[in-house]
Amino acid sequence: MSPRQSLSYAMPLPPLEKHPAYAPAALVLAKLTKLGHLSAFAGGCVRDALLAHTPKDLDIATAAPPEVVEQIFPRTLAVGKAFGTIVVIEDGHNFEVTTFRKDGPYADGRHPIHVEFSDMKEDAWRRDFTVNALFYDPEAGEVVDHVGGVADLAQGLLRTVGHASERFSEDRLRMLRAARFVAQLGFRMEDETADAIRAQYQELEGVAKERIFNELKRLLESEYITEGLRTLRATHLSRVIWPELDALNLERFVDFVPPVNWQNAFAAVALLVGAKNVEERLQSWKVPRQGLKSVLTQIHDCKVLMNPASSRADRARVLGGDQFLEILRLADGFLPGNPDILTGWITEFLSITGKTATLPHPLFNGHDLLKLGVEPGEKMGEMLKVLYAGQLEGQFASKAEALKKIQAMIKGI
Ligand code: ATP
Ligand code: MG
Repeated sequence: MSPRQSLSYAMPLPPLEKHPAYAPAALVLAKLTKLGHLSAFAGGCVRDALLAHTPKDLDIATAAPPEVVEQIFPRTLAVGKAFGTIVVIEDGHNFEVTTFRKDGPYADGRHPIHVEFSDMKEDAWRRDFTVNALFYDPEAGEVVDHVGGVADLAQGLLRTVGHASERFSEDRLRMLRAARFVAQLGFRMEDETADAIRAQYQELEGVAKERIFNELKRLLESEYITEGLRTLRATHLSRVIWPELDALNLERFVDFVPPVNWQNAFAAVALLVGAKNVEERLQSWKVPRQGLKSVLTQIHDCKVLMNPASSRADRARVLGGDQFLEILRLADGFLPGNPDILTGWITEFLSITGKTATLPHPLFNGHDLLKLGVEPGEKMGEMLKVLYAGQLEGQFASKAEALKKIQAMIKGI
């Protein structure tokens, strides 16, 4: 792509001003500008504001070198100083202030060896996608576009800045970021960008698993998740990171949208494709233990709910767990247009728990059984389970009634 004409559009960006940290951010910008350093809001916040969304973070780009930024503001953190980023703390808010830069050659398919401080135009050209390369000068009330990002935004197109294949070779993670932005923005991937990913998707193999998972997680929590999954498949990225996805029926998946969280989305995919390697797949992304456990519970408990052979007690344990919403969401995905079944389960659960909607404490614990002469061990564990199930099934309401059951069980040992 040849360098495009640079354009400025005079327009206010109300969603930017609605950001709770806008006032201190504007103050940081004004201070820099007053001292003669051209500065602007940059990247994701301009994109989101143009799409009428309130942005997540207000990032600032400036002509001032990092040392100067550190001198101007009393409270700073030098977290990304080597790449030109200084965090400025103003009125309790943290802002990333990054010096306009041009990236040097890329060493490992992920990071530039060094960066050179530069001007706004070159800073736009080092960014990944045209819609992420826009600037906003609040004093002039102007969006500054060096890469055709405003036109792409208007058309809902995700396109790399410059030649897609070069940009993906520099930093391979950008391929996955592209799929994530499709999922977040609901944009179509421009052809050259998509073709380039299809030609070099295998290069994603060498990227740190944590980075891959971070992008995937964000994709799974995006508004246009189905489009994101379709894109992973169409670009072949799924072949490297999530081959099970190729067996997913996307028409059925839409019944699970929107998922409660990424674990819920992953569980829906795993259940729909009948995945046998859930743990292995999550471990391949180095998902922290807690996330892994959450997915496994959701899958297991959804199967319990959906199994006609499950008992009232089995279902009560599922609905009394702390992921009951996620599990009901999955069940609802399998039973679209059948809310009566879900209502039935909830009514049944409430009939057991009463208004508290929490599972009752077990009438008996291990100590009680020890006192009755039961040896600790597997058998005791089983007895406790049977007793608690009996309690949930409403077989006995009091400890005295339960005692009778225990005595019968002990005799049976
Ligand atoms: P969000 O924070 O909502 O995920 P964002 O666009 O702010 O979206 P960030 O990852 O926070 O994304 O990055 C901020 C900006 O930095 C991007 O908008 C883009 O201009 C640039 N950027 C981030 N990562 C890369 C990359 N790997 N290659 C090139 N530019 C990047
Ligand atoms: Mg951001």
